[in-house]
Amino acid sequence: MTYIDLNETLDLLTELVSIPSPSGNTNEVITFVETFLEEIGVETRRNRKGGLLATIKGQLDSHHRMLTAHVDTLGAMVKEVKSNGRLKIDLIGGFQYNSIEGEYCQIETSSGKKFTGTILMRQTSVHVYKDAGKAERNQENMEVRIDEVVKNSDDVRKLGIEVGDFVSFDPRVERTESGYIKSRHLDDKASVAILLQLIKTIKEASIELPYTTHFLISNNEEIGYGGNSNITPETVEYLAVDMGAMGDGQSTDEYTVSICVKDASGPYHYELRKHLVQLAEENNIEYKLDIYPYYGSDASAAIRSGNDIVHGLIGPGIDSSHAFERTHESSIENTGKLLFHYIQSKMVQL
Ligand SMILES: [Zn+2]
Repeated sequence: MTYIDLNETLDLLTELVSIPSPSGNTNEVITFVETFLEEIGVETRRNRKGGLLATIKGQLDSHHRMLTAHVDTLGAMVKEVKSNGRLKIDLIGGFQYNSIEGEYCQIETSSGKKFTGTILMRQTSVHVYKDAGKAERNQENMEVRIDEVVKNSDDVRKLGIEVGDFVSFDPRVERTESGYIKSRHLDDKASVAILLQLIKTIKEASIELPYTTHFLISNNEEIGYGGNSNITPETVEYLAVDMGAMGDGQSTDEYTVSICVKDASGPYHYELRKHLVQLAEENNIEYKLDIYPYYGSDASAAIRSGNDIVHGLIGPGIDSSHAFERTHESSIENTGKLLFHYIQSKMVQL
């Protein structure tokens, strides 16, 4: 059986997380994906929002499938250049300020210049601030310390830094001997790496897909409307590949593929869910069924925007999501295997 190459997938994942791509500023990472697909002989096109589409013609062209993963990540934007030469930031996507405290970051100016910095509480120094531990982690108290000699707002502006500049967080990607991948932005770049590797496998092994299959690398998921467009009228099944959410009471783990039965948008399509479970069981793929309480996906965004589709959601389990993320290579592998069988399977509705 030809499955996706795990080592290549992990190399690709490492490259992807290392390219800054907060929602709203994803051109560089989309260009990287575009080049990857071009090199393996897959034609792509960009939508107006800046996402990337690739289509592989199948035996049947009257019924289509669509698979998505999102390449945009959490990030921030300069909200104010402060008189002390630091930056106040506004968050992009849903997360807490405490999850970026102490993080190294990059500020990209509108002309493309890049500066580094650190995201800190204004009251970080315990030698000066008695309440350093108790002060609230919020927009008021946190700021970016720029690694340049800047003593006031004029100094900062002379660098070209302005309100609206994008701030991205250092992913700090690491792979351990024990098979873990620790990095920010595994949501959802782990899935993007899996989908790209899957496309490569299809091409290299000349696998003929039963239906014309579209792959959408969406770029606005973290802000709610990533994969809700460019869905052909022929599209019957729409599968979002996005992280499985872990925590107390969750069944998702870092080792299996998580099949989402319901999230904040409601249940996913029952027949498609059962089909995915059946495929996992028939092919000895380790999976978990789960409900994600505070979660929406490209598939739920597609449903909300009025598409009459059969929608589903699966993905690798990611610990401490939207913060200090980690997964294990076995979760990546199980997700890749399920997708490999899914794209060659019969549709639940025809
Ligand atoms: Zn995600």
